Amino acid sequence: MSEEGERSEQIGEEAKSEETKTKKKESAPKKEKKEDKKRKVKGRIPWPLSKIVNIRMVRRLVQLFFLFAINGYIFTAWFGAEQVTLFWEQFRNVLPTLPIIAPLEAPFAIIAGSFDTIQREFTAGIFPFFTLGAMIIILAVLGRAACGWVCPIGTMQDYVSLLNPNKVRPAPNTEEELRRVKGYIFFIVMFLAVWMFISVIQNSAENLVDALGIFAFAAFDPVNPAYILFKLAPEQPWPTSIETLWYISTWGIFLVQLAFVGIILIVSLWFPRWFCRWLCPAGWLYGLVGRDSLIGIGRNPAKCTPDICNKCEVVCPMNIRIRRFPYSHVHSPECILCLECVSHCPNGAIQIKFG
Ligand code: SF4
Ligand code: SF4
Repeated sequence: MSEEGERSEQIGEEAKSEETKTKKKESAPKKEKKEDKKRKVKGRIPWPLSKIVNIRMVRRLVQLFFLFAINGYIFTAWFGAEQVTLFWEQFRNVLPTLPIIAPLEAPFAIIAGSFDTIQREFTAGIFPFFTLGAMIIILAVLGRAACGWVCPIGTMQDYVSLLNPNKVRPAPNTEEELRRVKGYIFFIVMFLAVWMFISVIQNSAENLVDALGIFAFAAFDPVNPAYILFKLAPEQPWPTSIETLWYISTWGIFLVQLAFVGIILIVSLWFPRWFCRWLCPAGWLYGLVGRDSLIGIGRNPAKCTPDICNKCEVVCPMNIRIRRFPYSHVHSPECILCLECVSHCPNGAIQIKFG
């Protein structure tokens, strides 16, 4: 089916669903409406502490916590290096890397991204056994939950997209084509990393380093928003007064990189997590490994009404066509376990699945 065909099928499908819902609402007696309302609230808040907190609020708070914690050493100014080290070392010793994007050598970093570390290790002539092993275990159990709950770049996009309730959902075929881009970026980045790895162990890396320039040691870094914000930004001569404003003119290529981060955030107003969906090579790798994770999302066929409702798909920030997957498990490499579909389902039909 052509893209236009798919789009009109989708629009038709959604319009039909809206029409059916409106008709149903008009004819429903008041009592039924009340019950429906009760059920909606019940479905949105599927756990015991629901009267006080809901899972969306919890995720937002966890995301905020990690947004600052990823660069935990920035707090040394207030709490002193010793306190901060004591607190964070417990985490760093257990989880030195996580399946997110976070640069290994950021000056304030307490944790690194698996993909960033794999690149660095390869280009240093080290095979990343431990990083790969830890990454596979985390993804096999939790899937891409770290993308949904921890990654600072995902968090920033999520928070920006909250400002605009009118999102754009590309047609399934267009979405599929755009998702391929991150796979291509992944192969280019890993090809260069492995090439460097071979050159380093053969002691012939000098020429390659000269030829690749800023792309030599981690080819994704120059366009990696986490690297730009957490590694490059602290190194820039930031103006501290009107007289030092001219420092900005010395930023050079960093200005272009900063503009790129700005574009990622602005576009997220209409296309939630578009960087994750279409450009992040780390996300592509994590999706490949974490697709069939132990913990995932499934639908209860007794409660789900896929013919008249598409609420879960409308709220999914990764634009996953949830209804096209089997009821038992949404085996999508794009699912970041954000649980937006769980909290928005009016029938409480979407649940966390184990196994
Ligand atoms: S896809 Fe990339 S940027 Fe998005 S949350 Fe995952 S690691 Fe972070
Ligand atoms: S399917 Fe549900 S849990 Fe997965 S990304 Fe979409 S909204 Fe989040």
